[in-house]
Amino acid sequence: MTSRQGNRLLLACAVLVAAIAVVAAAGAASPPNRPLPRAKRDRPDDLHGSQIHLVYVLPSDGTDRHLDTGGEIANSVAAFQRWLAAQTGGRDLRLDTYRGRLDISFFRLKETDAQVRSHDPYIRDLIEHELKQAGVTRPHKLYGVWYDGSATSACGGGAWPPELPGIVGALYLHGQPPGAPGCDTNPFAPQGGQPGYIDFAIVHELMHTMGFVPTCAPHETRRGHVSDSPSDLLYAGDQPWQPSVLDFGHDDYYEAHIPGCLDFAQSPFLVKAVGRVQIARPAFVTRAGVLRLRVACLDSGSDCHTRLTVWHGGKRVGHGPIDLIAGANGTFTARLSRAARSLLARHHRLAVVVRGPGAPPTRFTLH
Ligand SMILES: [Zn+2]
Repeated sequence: MTSRQGNRLLLACAVLVAAIAVVAAAGAASPPNRPLPRAKRDRPDDLHGSQIHLVYVLPSDGTDRHLDTGGEIANSVAAFQRWLAAQTGGRDLRLDTYRGRLDISFFRLKETDAQVRSHDPYIRDLIEHELKQAGVTRPHKLYGVWYDGSATSACGGGAWPPELPGIVGALYLHGQPPGAPGCDTNPFAPQGGQPGYIDFAIVHELMHTMGFVPTCAPHETRRGHVSDSPSDLLYAGDQPWQPSVLDFGHDDYYEAHIPGCLDFAQSPFLVKAVGRVQIARPAFVTRAGVLRLRVACLDSGSDCHTRLTVWHGGKRVGHGPIDLIAGANGTFTARLSRAARSLLARHHRLAVVVRGPGAPPTRFTLH
């Protein structure tokens, strides 16, 4: 929904040990759920380039429900990311992470809940304005906001470039849209659960903020929505919204292949398929216990935005991100665990296996 119209939606690892147990690293692109401590500023980024940063926003007098650190936002995000990966063959939103975990910021507005509500239908605009004024926004980023305050017109709002430029897609968690149940009657997805209304709603608003649905799409309707199925993530119409599909029929905004028309499959905010990683020998370990490896990202059309994990004796002894585009070479670094450094110091050699999504298990002897 576009807040300018104020209308709708929505929503919505010494060769000590003969056998080295190789434990598969998690293959999913999504970061683990365990939330980081509260942060008022964006932490250093794991990724470079386009990404979506998440923010928990309160009005000045709002009750702090700690959704940023309590796991609610993380569970919601994990739920919609699993859904999105299922819809796209393994791709999901390129979210801002710090050391592999979701980087969620906390921000308190200057206005009270009532003052913010008086800006309805421009609540999204107000939040974007304050985030920019506070200097907490960055280029190449969009912002997904969970606003823990009230609204009278909708459960959320998004920008819709080019007509409505902006960088924030927001949920109004205590919205009371006319003729609809209160937005806070919709629970967040439980850990490991399926996404529900509120979890789909933030993706819906973020899609708008990325410019979807563009007016060149055949079923575009009601300013940035589609008319062809109420199961569509971006449906708007007279039937109840029951989201379960990303671009019903793939004819409007995802793999629609309409010349000159914005397509989510090409979006820099959508993680590319994880490319194959080639790990070069030798490996080096610095005095500080940091493992350095040369790696290459092999597949054209795929990027290697992933994590490699270092295993020894079935235990994870180091891990870290690699962020390479297709065809590029780079260095992977991982700080070894204290136990691994201790073994290395006592035995002078340590056998490790390095692996990750897109990388075959590669065995090294560290000195
Ligand atoms: Zn909408």
